Amino acid sequence: MTPQPLPAGTTLIIRGGRAILPAADWHAPGTVDIAIAGDTIAGVAAAFAVVAGQPIEDIDARRHLVLPGFINAHYHSHDVLAKGTLEEVPLEAWRLYALPPQYPPRSVEEVRARTLLGGLECLRSGMTTIQDMLTLYPFEDRHLDAVMQAYERIGIRVVFSLQYADRKGLETIPFWKDIFPKELHALLSTAAEPERQLDLLGHFEATCLKGSPRPRVHWALGPSAPERCSPPLMARTMELARRYDLPVYSHIYESRGMALQARLTLPEHGGSLVKRLAAEGVLDPRLNLAHSVWLARDEIDLLAQSGTGVVLNPQGNLKMKCGIAPIRALQDAGVRIGLGCDNCSCSDAQNMFMAMKLFALLAAVSDAIPGPPQAAAALHAATEAGAEGARLGGAIGQIAVGRKADLTLIDMNDPSWSPCNSAVRQLVHVEAGRGVRHVLVDGKVVVRDRRLTTIDEEEIYDAVEAVMPGFRKDFAAISERVKRLQPWLDQAHAKFVATEMEFDRVYIPF
Ligand SMILES: [Zn+2]
Repeated sequence: MTPQPLPAGTTLIIRGGRAILPAADWHAPGTVDIAIAGDTIAGVAAAFAVVAGQPIEDIDARRHLVLPGFINAHYHSHDVLAKGTLEEVPLEAWRLYALPPQYPPRSVEEVRARTLLGGLECLRSGMTTIQDMLTLYPFEDRHLDAVMQAYERIGIRVVFSLQYADRKGLETIPFWKDIFPKELHALLSTAAEPERQLDLLGHFEATCLKGSPRPRVHWALGPSAPERCSPPLMARTMELARRYDLPVYSHIYESRGMALQARLTLPEHGGSLVKRLAAEGVLDPRLNLAHSVWLARDEIDLLAQSGTGVVLNPQGNLKMKCGIAPIRALQDAGVRIGLGCDNCSCSDAQNMFMAMKLFALLAAVSDAIPGPPQAAAALHAATEAGAEGARLGGAIGQIAVGRKADLTLIDMNDPSWSPCNSAVRQLVHVEAGRGVRHVLVDGKVVVRDRRLTTIDEEEIYDAVEAVMPGFRKDFAAISERVKRLQPWLDQAHAKFVATEMEFDRVYIPF
């Protein structure tokens, strides 16, 4: 085998790794050299020549699996500090603990620390891109600046959207308004500054969409959920999305209560939020609907026909007692499926290995009939589909010439990989993150030998420790408040389960 000449401008070579190339056999990928020029993959060959005397970095990737970096297609950096705070909680009650409007305003130091900590966890588990759907409450430019500076410093790629809504949570949850005494209603609102949202979008357009480009930042839009966003707010969202060709991320039917609310309150749309979105012209390949657990059959067909994608978050869905998305039905219909790890307070871990494994295994529950191989589908969801959903399909998500050099190298000198019978199956079903050794974003090694290279990790942990007393104090106050609400929460939930069972038989075939 004659080594090939290096592509012009090569700055780094990854030598001899077993690479998950698009056309490779993902069970038994062969070894290749990958040449990187600046931030881009410049060549892939069986072997590139060694060139002496040039400043080209060489990474020895023998006995390593080389993957496109994972894309965490649903994540919220606002509650990174809340990981491990809660046991399993029904979603409607969880929202009272987790959402920024429940808390007093946060300090810039806390915003910076949590953004860096979340970025660190994502990078160390092999993610090179995250979709941060961030609620800043109250919105302040200095908080947004702190977030942007943190991402720039740590070196991860971010598809960034503010999360917004102009309808209060109380209006969007079945029975709450009737069951909770009026004097408690103010405690149940979960929308941040509803009257400011259109102005906020205008501000976002002026300062971000029309502002100077930031390295590795890709803008997106984040209407929180259709039931929490008025038709004018959704229309403004889609106008911006089409004008700037931006991806849009929203939540739909995470809990059965959310589906129930649609069935009860949208008779003009057949009880369907998806049909409401279709009528408003919102279904679009730019749109990604997180969760999509309680979709009905005809709603899945509408998503497929319109090219609308979903982002599944199996960890959070299980912990919040929401259920399991109709994985097989979505796959059979050809709906684009990305994977995410959602809030730290409900998923706890930003770990794509867990998400892929649950995705692959839960298909057995959502549809007991054996279907297509799920390991490759899980990896596709965690990489390429996330890229397509972010409107970055040609740029990231694959190891291919011309794409950004966003790569994760897994050390196969580990019991998880001995023997290696199938790379893709062992990646999904055996590896849990221990093997992530090097991570590159934009051609730069941001994790080397399991350590962040861009910032001293201790600095991040110290910054987190410094803000935790304040966070813990506020979280404790919120927990006390939710405890006071518990009798009515239980009452509402009981009524809600009884009614939703009735509706299941009629509307929800899964
Ligand atoms: Zn979410």
